[in-house]
Amino acid sequence: MRAMTTALPRASAVTSAATRKAVWTPVRLPPPVVVTQPLLVKSTTRVASSSGGISSTDATGPWNTAPLAMTDDLYAYLLRNTRECGVLRALREETSALRGARMQVAPEQGALLGMMVELTDAKRVVEIGTYTGYSSIAMALAMREGGKLYACDRNEESMEVARRYWKEAGVEGKIEERIGDARVTVLDLLQEFGEDSFDLGFIDADKRAYKEYYEGLLKLVRRGGLIIVDNVLWYGKVADPEVQDKQTDAIREFNEFVTNDERVTYTMVPVGDGLSLCRKR
Ligand code: SAM
Ligand code: CA
Repeated sequence: MRAMTTALPRASAVTSAATRKAVWTPVRLPPPVVVTQPLLVKSTTRVASSSGGISSTDATGPWNTAPLAMTDDLYAYLLRNTRECGVLRALREETSALRGARMQVAPEQGALLGMMVELTDAKRVVEIGTYTGYSSIAMALAMREGGKLYACDRNEESMEVARRYWKEAGVEGKIEERIGDARVTVLDLLQEFGEDSFDLGFIDADKRAYKEYYEGLLKLVRRGGLIIVDNVLWYGKVADPEVQDKQTDAIREFNEFVTNDERVTYTMVPVGDGLSLCRKR
Protein backbone atom coordinates (compact mmCIF):
# COMPACT_ATOMS: atom_id res chain seq x y z
CA MET A 1 0.00 0.00 0.00
CA ARG A 2 2.71 2.46 1.03
CA ALA A 3 4.87 1.54 -1.94
CA MET A 4 2.18 2.58 -4.40
CA THR A 5 1.47 5.73 -2.46
CA THR A 6 5.02 6.98 -2.76
CA ALA A 7 4.63 6.84 -6.55
CA LEU A 8 2.48 9.99 -6.35
CA PRO A 9 4.24 13.08 -7.70
CA ARG A 10 5.46 15.72 -5.25
CA ALA A 11 2.92 18.49 -4.83
CA SER A 12 5.52 21.13 -5.50
CA ALA A 13 6.18 19.56 -8.88
CA VAL A 14 2.52 19.83 -9.77
CA THR A 15 1.41 23.32 -8.78
CA SER A 16 2.64 25.96 -6.41
CA ALA A 17 0.95 26.38 -3.04
CA ALA A 18 -0.39 29.74 -4.15
CA THR A 19 -2.20 28.45 -7.21
CA ARG A 20 -3.32 24.97 -6.25
CA LYS A 21 -6.24 26.19 -4.18
CA ALA A 22 -8.11 27.40 -7.23
CA VAL A 23 -7.03 24.70 -9.64
CA TRP A 24 -9.47 21.82 -9.95
CA THR A 25 -8.36 18.86 -12.03
CA PRO A 26 -9.31 15.26 -12.48
CA VAL A 27 -7.43 13.02 -10.05
CA ARG A 28 -4.36 12.22 -12.08
CA LEU A 29 -2.87 9.30 -10.25
CA PRO A 30 -4.83 6.73 -8.30
CA PRO A 31 -4.10 6.25 -4.62
CA PRO A 32 -3.32 2.70 -3.58
CA VAL A 33 -6.06 0.28 -4.44
CA VAL A 34 -6.30 -2.80 -2.33
CA VAL A 35 -9.16 -4.82 -3.67
CA THR A 36 -9.28 -7.68 -1.21
CA GLN A 37 -12.87 -8.30 -2.14
CA PRO A 38 -14.63 -6.50 -4.98
CA LEU A 39 -17.50 -4.43 -3.70
CA LEU A 40 -20.11 -6.01 -5.88
CA VAL A 41 -19.56 -9.33 -7.54
CA LYS A 42 -21.72 -12.19 -8.59
CA SER A 43 -21.68 -14.69 -5.82
CA THR A 44 -23.71 -17.59 -4.65
CA THR A 45 -23.70 -16.43 -1.06
CA ARG A 46 -27.00 -15.32 0.32
CA VAL A 47 -27.62 -11.70 1.22
CA ALA A 48 -27.50 -11.90 4.98
CA SER A 49 -30.32 -9.94 6.49
CA SER A 50 -32.79 -10.63 9.17
CA SER A 51 -34.10 -7.13 8.80
CA GLY A 52 -35.77 -4.58 6.58
CA GLY A 53 -33.01 -4.96 4.01
CA ILE A 54 -33.44 -7.07 0.89
CA SER A 55 -33.46 -10.54 2.35
CA SER A 56 -33.78 -14.18 1.39
CA THR A 57 -32.61 -13.31 -2.08
CA ASP A 58 -29.76 -15.10 -3.74
CA ALA A 59 -27.06 -12.56 -4.59
CA THR A 60 -26.99 -13.98 -8.11
CA GLY A 61 -30.43 -12.60 -8.79
CA PRO A 62 -32.97 -11.71 -9.76
CA TRP A 63 -31.21 -8.56 -10.91
CA ASN A 64 -32.07 -6.85 -14.16
CA THR A 65 -28.60 -5.36 -14.34
CA ALA A 66 -25.54 -7.35 -13.37
CA PRO A 67 -23.70 -5.87 -10.38
CA LEU A 68 -20.49 -4.08 -11.29
CA ALA A 69 -17.12 -5.37 -10.09
CA MET A 70 -14.80 -2.50 -9.10
CA THR A 71 -11.53 -3.51 -10.73
CA ASP A 72 -8.27 -1.55 -10.44
CA ASP A 73 -8.68 -0.32 -14.01
CA LEU A 74 -12.22 0.81 -13.44
CA TYR A 75 -11.23 2.57 -10.23
CA ALA A 76 -8.40 4.37 -12.02
CA TYR A 77 -10.95 5.44 -14.65
CA LEU A 78 -13.30 6.69 -11.94
CA LEU A 79 -10.48 8.79 -10.46
CA ARG A 80 -9.56 10.23 -13.82
CA ASN A 81 -13.15 11.47 -13.97
CA THR A 82 -13.25 12.80 -10.43
CA ARG A 83 -12.49 16.41 -9.54
CA GLU A 84 -10.05 17.25 -6.79
CA CYS A 85 -8.55 20.66 -6.06
CA GLY A 86 -4.81 21.12 -5.67
CA VAL A 87 -4.95 21.66 -1.91
CA LEU A 88 -6.76 18.37 -1.39
CA ARG A 89 -4.32 16.64 -3.66
CA ALA A 90 -1.37 18.03 -1.69
CA LEU A 91 -3.01 17.01 1.58
CA ARG A 92 -3.59 13.50 0.27
CA GLU A 93 0.04 13.28 -0.68
CA GLU A 94 1.31 14.52 2.69
CA THR A 95 -1.08 12.24 4.56
CA SER A 96 0.06 9.21 2.57
CA ALA A 97 3.32 9.26 4.54
CA LEU A 98 1.57 9.42 7.91
CA ARG A 99 0.35 6.73 10.24
CA GLY A 100 -3.29 5.88 9.56
CA ALA A 101 -3.20 7.25 6.00
CA ARG A 102 -5.83 4.83 4.82
CA MET A 103 -8.31 6.46 7.19
CA GLN A 104 -8.58 9.42 4.85
CA VAL A 105 -11.70 9.48 2.67
CA ALA A 106 -11.11 8.71 -1.00
CA PRO A 107 -11.21 11.59 -3.55
CA GLU A 108 -14.51 10.45 -5.05
CA GLN A 109 -15.98 10.41 -1.54
CA GLY A 110 -14.71 13.93 -0.94
CA ALA A 111 -16.44 15.03 -4.14
CA LEU A 112 -19.68 13.39 -3.03
CA LEU A 113 -19.48 15.02 0.42
CA GLY A 114 -19.07 18.41 -1.23
CA MET A 115 -22.03 17.68 -3.48
CA MET A 116 -24.16 16.77 -0.46
CA VAL A 117 -23.25 20.03 1.26
CA GLU A 118 -24.19 21.93 -1.88
CA LEU A 119 -27.46 20.05 -2.36
CA THR A 120 -28.57 20.68 1.21
CA ASP A 121 -27.14 24.21 1.18
CA ALA A 122 -25.68 23.29 4.54
CA LYS A 123 -24.77 26.24 6.71
CA ARG A 124 -23.95 24.34 9.87
CA VAL A 125 -22.11 21.03 9.64
CA VAL A 126 -20.56 18.72 12.21
CA GLU A 127 -17.82 16.27 11.36
CA ILE A 128 -17.02 13.43 13.77
CA GLY A 129 -13.47 12.34 12.89
CA THR A 130 -11.36 14.94 11.09
CA TYR A 131 -7.89 13.33 11.03
CA THR A 132 -5.71 15.48 8.72
CA GLY A 133 -8.66 17.37 7.28
CA TYR A 134 -9.49 16.00 3.81
CA SER A 135 -13.23 15.55 4.30
CA SER A 136 -13.57 18.78 6.30
CA ILE A 137 -11.99 20.76 3.45
CA ALA A 138 -14.07 18.97 0.81
CA MET A 139 -17.21 20.02 2.68
CA ALA A 140 -16.10 23.50 3.77
CA LEU A 141 -15.17 24.45 0.20
CA ALA A 142 -18.72 23.62 -0.81
CA MET A 143 -20.25 25.76 1.94
CA ARG A 144 -21.25 29.34 1.39
CA GLU A 145 -19.49 32.17 3.23
CA GLY A 146 -20.88 32.42 6.73
CA GLY A 147 -21.27 28.66 7.03
CA LYS A 148 -19.57 26.81 9.86
CA LEU A 149 -18.21 23.29 10.10
CA TYR A 150 -17.43 21.92 13.56
CA ALA A 151 -14.45 19.58 13.14
CA CYS A 152 -14.30 17.07 16.00
CA ASP A 153 -11.29 14.91 16.74
CA ARG A 154 -9.32 13.92 19.80
CA ASN A 155 -5.96 13.80 18.07
CA GLU A 156 -4.07 17.07 18.41
CA GLU A 157 -1.24 15.92 16.13
CA SER A 158 -3.37 15.22 13.07
CA MET A 159 -5.38 18.38 13.77
CA GLU A 160 -2.18 20.37 13.32
CA VAL A 161 -1.93 19.09 9.76
CA ALA A 162 -5.62 19.87 9.20
CA ARG A 163 -5.17 23.43 10.43
CA ARG A 164 -2.38 24.10 7.93
CA TYR A 165 -4.49 22.88 5.04
CA TRP A 166 -7.65 24.70 6.18
CA LYS A 167 -5.58 27.85 5.92
CA GLU A 168 -4.17 26.97 2.54
CA ALA A 169 -7.63 26.15 1.25
CA GLY A 170 -8.91 29.46 2.60
CA VAL A 171 -11.59 27.77 4.70
CA GLU A 172 -10.13 28.41 8.16
CA GLY A 173 -12.87 30.97 8.81
CA LYS A 174 -15.54 28.37 8.08
CA ILE A 175 -14.14 25.73 10.41
CA GLU A 176 -14.19 25.55 14.19
CA GLU A 177 -12.22 22.73 15.73
CA ARG A 178 -13.38 20.82 18.76
CA ILE A 179 -10.66 18.70 20.26
CA GLY A 180 -11.69 15.93 22.63
CA ASP A 181 -13.85 12.85 22.79
CA ALA A 182 -16.49 13.42 20.12
CA ARG A 183 -19.12 11.60 22.17
CA VAL A 184 -18.85 14.45 24.65
CA THR A 185 -18.51 17.11 21.94
CA VAL A 186 -21.83 16.07 20.40
CA LEU A 187 -23.51 16.56 23.77
CA ASP A 188 -21.79 19.94 24.12
CA LEU A 189 -23.04 21.01 20.69
CA LEU A 190 -26.55 19.95 21.67
CA GLN A 191 -26.30 22.12 24.79
CA GLU A 192 -24.90 25.02 22.82
CA PHE A 193 -27.18 25.05 19.77
CA GLY A 194 -30.12 22.85 20.74
CA GLU A 195 -31.87 20.15 18.73
CA ASP A 196 -32.54 20.48 14.99
CA SER A 197 -29.81 23.10 14.67
CA PHE A 198 -27.45 21.47 12.13
CA ASP A 199 -27.97 20.81 8.43
CA LEU A 200 -25.52 17.98 8.00
CA GLY A 201 -23.41 15.61 10.07
CA PHE A 202 -20.62 13.32 8.90
CA ILE A 203 -19.60 10.32 11.01
CA ASP A 204 -16.09 8.94 10.45
CA ALA A 205 -14.53 8.16 13.85
CA ASP A 206 -14.30 5.05 16.06
CA LYS A 207 -16.56 2.42 14.58
CA ARG A 208 -17.79 1.02 17.87
CA ALA A 209 -19.34 4.36 18.78
CA TYR A 210 -21.18 4.84 15.46
CA LYS A 211 -24.58 4.15 17.00
CA GLU A 212 -23.93 6.70 19.75
CA TYR A 213 -22.82 9.34 17.24
CA TYR A 214 -25.79 8.58 15.03
CA GLU A 215 -28.28 9.03 17.89
CA GLY A 216 -26.59 12.28 18.88
CA LEU A 217 -26.62 13.60 15.33
CA LEU A 218 -30.24 12.60 14.85
CA LYS A 219 -31.02 15.07 17.61
CA LEU A 220 -28.61 17.72 16.38
CA VAL A 221 -29.59 17.65 12.71
CA ARG A 222 -32.80 19.31 11.52
CA ARG A 223 -35.63 17.57 9.71
CA GLY A 224 -34.61 17.17 6.09
CA GLY A 225 -30.94 17.36 7.10
CA LEU A 226 -28.40 14.66 6.31
CA ILE A 227 -26.30 12.29 8.34
CA ILE A 228 -23.54 10.70 6.27
CA VAL A 229 -21.65 7.70 7.60
CA ASP A 230 -18.34 6.39 6.26
CA ASN A 231 -16.85 2.88 6.14
CA VAL A 232 -20.18 1.08 6.17
CA LEU A 233 -18.72 -1.63 3.89
CA TRP A 234 -15.58 -1.85 6.05
CA TYR A 235 -13.15 -3.11 3.42
CA GLY A 236 -15.63 -5.82 2.49
CA LYS A 237 -15.36 -7.45 5.90
CA VAL A 238 -19.02 -6.88 6.79
CA ALA A 239 -20.02 -9.44 4.14
CA ASP A 240 -17.43 -12.04 5.12
CA PRO A 241 -18.92 -14.38 7.73
CA GLU A 242 -15.45 -15.54 8.70
CA VAL A 243 -14.58 -12.08 9.98
CA GLN A 244 -15.69 -11.78 13.57
CA ASP A 245 -14.13 -8.84 15.35
CA LYS A 246 -15.57 -6.06 17.43
CA GLN A 247 -15.29 -3.30 14.87
CA THR A 248 -16.75 -5.36 12.03
CA ASP A 249 -19.57 -6.56 14.25
CA ALA A 250 -20.27 -3.00 15.36
CA ILE A 251 -20.58 -1.84 11.75
CA ARG A 252 -22.80 -4.82 10.86
CA GLU A 253 -25.07 -4.03 13.79
CA PHE A 254 -25.10 -0.35 12.94
CA ASN A 255 -25.99 -1.01 9.29
CA GLU A 256 -28.81 -3.35 10.23
CA PHE A 257 -30.10 -0.82 12.73
CA VAL A 258 -30.17 2.04 10.24
CA THR A 259 -31.71 -0.11 7.50
CA ASN A 260 -34.66 -0.56 9.86
CA ASP A 261 -34.74 2.95 11.29
CA GLU A 262 -37.95 4.64 10.16
CA ARG A 263 -36.76 8.01 11.44
CA VAL A 264 -34.63 8.43 8.33
CA THR A 265 -34.79 7.98 4.59
CA TYR A 266 -31.76 5.90 3.90
CA THR A 267 -29.48 4.57 1.20
CA MET A 268 -26.09 2.87 1.30
CA VAL A 269 -23.80 3.97 -1.51
CA PRO A 270 -20.84 1.75 -2.53
CA VAL A 271 -18.44 4.64 -2.99
CA GLY A 272 -15.00 4.37 -1.40
CA ASP A 273 -15.39 2.14 1.62
CA GLY A 274 -19.15 2.66 1.54
CA LEU A 275 -21.11 5.75 2.56
CA SER A 276 -24.58 5.68 4.07
CA LEU A 277 -26.83 8.65 3.49
CA CYS A 278 -29.54 9.13 6.12
CA ARG A 279 -32.00 11.98 5.73
CA LYS A 280 -33.88 12.88 8.89
CA ARG A 281 -37.64 12.65 8.44
N1 SAM B 1 -12.63 12.08 7.86
C1 SAM B 1 -11.19 11.99 7.96
C2 SAM B 1 -10.55 12.24 6.59
O1 SAM B 1 -11.24 12.31 5.59
O2 SAM B 1 -9.33 12.34 6.53
C3 SAM B 1 -10.76 10.65 8.49
C4 SAM B 1 -11.15 10.41 9.92
S1 SAM B 1 -10.31 9.03 10.61
C5 SAM B 1 -11.14 7.70 9.85
C6 SAM B 1 -10.94 8.88 12.23
C7 SAM B 1 -10.55 9.98 13.21
O3 SAM B 1 -11.43 9.87 14.32
C8 SAM B 1 -9.13 9.89 13.76
O4 SAM B 1 -8.43 11.08 13.47
C9 SAM B 1 -9.31 9.72 15.28
O5 SAM B 1 -8.41 10.48 16.04
C10 SAM B 1 -10.72 10.23 15.48
N2 SAM B 1 -11.42 9.63 16.63
C11 SAM B 1 -11.58 8.32 16.90
N3 SAM B 1 -12.31 8.17 18.01
C12 SAM B 1 -12.62 9.41 18.45
C13 SAM B 1 -13.36 9.93 19.54
N4 SAM B 1 -13.97 9.14 20.43
N5 SAM B 1 -13.48 11.25 19.65
C14 SAM B 1 -12.91 12.09 18.76
N6 SAM B 1 -12.20 11.66 17.71
C15 SAM B 1 -12.06 10.35 17.56
CA1 CA C 1 -13.23 6.71 7.00
